[in-house]
Amino acid sequence: MISETEVVVIGSGALGSSVAFHLAKAQKLAVALVDMHELASQTSPRAAGLTSQVRRSELMTRLAKLAVKKIESFAEDTGEPFTFFQPGALKIARLANHEAQLKAEVERGRRTGVELDFISLDEARRKMPFLDTKGVRAITFSPTDLYLEPAQIPVGYSRAAGKLGAAMLPHTRVTGIKVTNGAVAGVSTDKGEIRCRFVVDAAGAWTRLVASLASARVPMVPTRHQLVITQAIDGVSSDQPITRIIDANVYVRPDNGGLMLGGYEKTPIQYDMAHVAPSFDIQDMPLDLGVLRGLAQSVRDQLPVFARLGQDLPLREHRGGLPTMTADGEHVVGSVPNVRGLFVAGGCCVGGLSIAPAIGEVLAEWILSGRPPMDLSALAPGRASADLRPEERLREACRDQYSHHYWERHETAAEATSG
Ligand SMILES: Cc1cc2nc3c(=O)[nH]c(=O)nc-3n(C[C@H](O)[C@H](O)[C@H](O)COP(=O)(O)OP(=O)(O)OC[C@H]3O[C@@H](n4cnc5c(N)ncnc54)[C@H](O)[C@@H]3O)c2cc1C
Repeated sequence: MISETEVVVIGSGALGSSVAFHLAKAQKLAVALVDMHELASQTSPRAAGLTSQVRRSELMTRLAKLAVKKIESFAEDTGEPFTFFQPGALKIARLANHEAQLKAEVERGRRTGVELDFISLDEARRKMPFLDTKGVRAITFSPTDLYLEPAQIPVGYSRAAGKLGAAMLPHTRVTGIKVTNGAVAGVSTDKGEIRCRFVVDAAGAWTRLVASLASARVPMVPTRHQLVITQAIDGVSSDQPITRIIDANVYVRPDNGGLMLGGYEKTPIQYDMAHVAPSFDIQDMPLDLGVLRGLAQSVRDQLPVFARLGQDLPLREHRGGLPTMTADGEHVVGSVPNVRGLFVAGGCCVGGLSIAPAIGEVLAEWILSGRPPMDLSALAPGRASADLRPEERLREACRDQYSHHYWERHETAAEATSG
């Protein structure tokens, strides 16, 4: 155990480990990476591992594009083994509104330099042989999107940070943040105190709880998200693209000869970590295959292979975790108002694994130079659009963001034109 450092990063998931790595690489400030569980063991290793570069805003699109570049050079940058597949991604519109959304995304891709364009239905079927395009209105293809085994990101960054001199403190719970004259002065843990000037709250589902240790309000709602992976299926190969169906909020990708399916249901289970036992580990979270069966049914016309999910389609894995949703659907990244030295990297909106390489780099630059390397105000902790009250209003907005994950406009299904 150490008693002093300069930066304490709380949480060794994708976001915290990336911040710790980028700080350690700069060799300017001493860093400690603290986790109450085993390193890299909570939500991050349970992700699907998909990138999606064209996001809702130009800022997030630029960060997601930077993250893909950093994933491409991950092994070289960290010295850690790393494998990824880059077959690109299909995005499918079955409703008129979503065809319009795809047009806007192609435009955003052009403005931000991300390759993305419409492809013919025939071409889409050639790329993804399990796809039936009956009733589909339009499909885009983004050739540089990729997928990977998710644990590689937090494990790789944590190991690399350790080799660069960061103190690694697994099984150490942060129980307090000491603030003196409005500035961070240290943290208390169940193993002792650590004096420091900066704290990065990257505590995943616990981010809000950890921020409250410094009396800071960082509203976000941990929300259960699940996926399944089938046993090997004839005809699946790793070079088939990620496939997303917008109105159903469902994604599919190849995984070791089988197919992975995950998605966003209308009424997800939300958690309040203040009322969860301190011993809670994500691996103990109850899962519900019924949710994924329902999502599979909603795409059975396009992906008939999943019509048998949970019946005679054998599964290799069913997993889930607790990403956090925000009321405005944007991540939370930056310094906390009124507590100098306290930063947050969270509010991942189920997209934090793949963007973590970029968020870690920009947050490390901010801490090292004293100012953000780009305008990150849309992600600011404490921004009004993410701070709804009372709590039920916040939860409702987060539920709405989750259940319309792939929709850029928040129409209800009834409002969306299907003609
Ligand atoms: C099924 C599923 C599929 C997903 N698919 C994708 C995808 O395709 N692409 C994508 O980008 N994202 C995806 N996500 C989202 C992604 O997993 C999250 O955005 C990401 O893992 C968030 O990382 P994190 O570092 O914030 O959280 P975590 O990985 O949960 O790390 C937080 C850490 O903080 C630690 N901690 C908390 N409180 C304390 C404390 N008081 N003291 C010390 N340590 C503490 C915890 O122990 C934990 O290890 C998916 C998520 C799920 C569940």
